[in-house]
Amino acid sequence: MPGKKVVILGSGDIGLIMARRMTLEGAEVKAVAELMPYSGGLKRNIVQCLDDFGIPLKLSHTVVDIKGKERVEGITLAEVDENRRPIPGTEEFFECDTLLLSVGLIPENELSGQAGVKLSNVTSGPVVNESLETNVEGIFACGNVLHVHDLVDFVSEEAGNAGRNAALYINNNGEDRIPEEIKITLSPQNGVRYTVPSEIRICHMAEEQLVRFRVGNVYKNCYIRAYLDGERIFSRKKQVAAPERWNRSN
Ligand SMILES: Cc1cc2nc3c(=O)[nH]c(=O)nc-3n(C[C@H](O)[C@H](O)[C@H](O)COP(=O)(O)OP(=O)(O)OC[C@H]3O[C@@H](n4cnc5c(N)ncnc54)[C@H](O)[C@@H]3O)c2cc1C
Repeated sequence: MPGKKVVILGSGDIGLIMARRMTLEGAEVKAVAELMPYSGGLKRNIVQCLDDFGIPLKLSHTVVDIKGKERVEGITLAEVDENRRPIPGTEEFFECDTLLLSVGLIPENELSGQAGVKLSNVTSGPVVNESLETNVEGIFACGNVLHVHDLVDFVSEEAGNAGRNAALYINNNGEDRIPEEIKITLSPQNGVRYTVPSEIRICHMAEEQLVRFRVGNVYKNCYIRAYLDGERIFSRKKQVAAPERWNRSN
């Protein structure tokens, strides 16, 4: 156990589950603080990991000070305004010996980097085309090495696609490549942070192309729309789109 009195920063599923785990292991979790006005985790995790153990969730709060030299002795939380800046006068001190940071994951990209694979500066994972192939011919990417996933179901689906495409590549000896093939570059806009894939080679495209994407904020009653050369080719209403939820469109 890293400590006995804990404050957790970040309320995604991992932060929430760690609050329960630390409690079950005998620690006192004083609070889970979240910068955003909403939790990034599932409702059931808020109930089962915090509410069931009486752990407060402090939304729109962040850590503004850490006390202690050899060891953490306490931290100060403050409320933040709509620009995520601490509001003076709202500071609250929590005595604790551990601050657990659970503030986002990035893909493991050591191997990708060594192989010369082009990385996205949004996801920190490889940039891939419709076949989940990277810029290095014959190297395909899927799962958390490509971008961080919430659910293993999507990893399995994506891995199946990457595996099928890698097998096709081997069977064709890479001979299905057309040097000057037409490519569509997907450019995420108006709240969409990134898409997978980020490029579609028309001649390799299936009848239907699945595009997954993440948004940068919470949007209610919004439209997911795709444009090709300025012409709208897809539109679907969505009740809620949130950063922590992976979206998909065919
Ligand atoms: C803490 C945490 C909790 C999660 N909980 C859930 C959950 O409850 N339910 C759910 O559906 N999803 C959960 N997820 C989501 C998770 O991202 C996916 O479910 C899934 O595990 C991702 O699969 P993956 O195969 O891409 O990566 P991983 O499961 O991370 O597997 C990657 C493997 O590659 C190995 N590896 C890394 N580098 C090398 C190398 N150089 N050479 C050889 N091997 C290497 C690693 O050791 C590891 O075994 C959780 C994620 C995290 C981080």
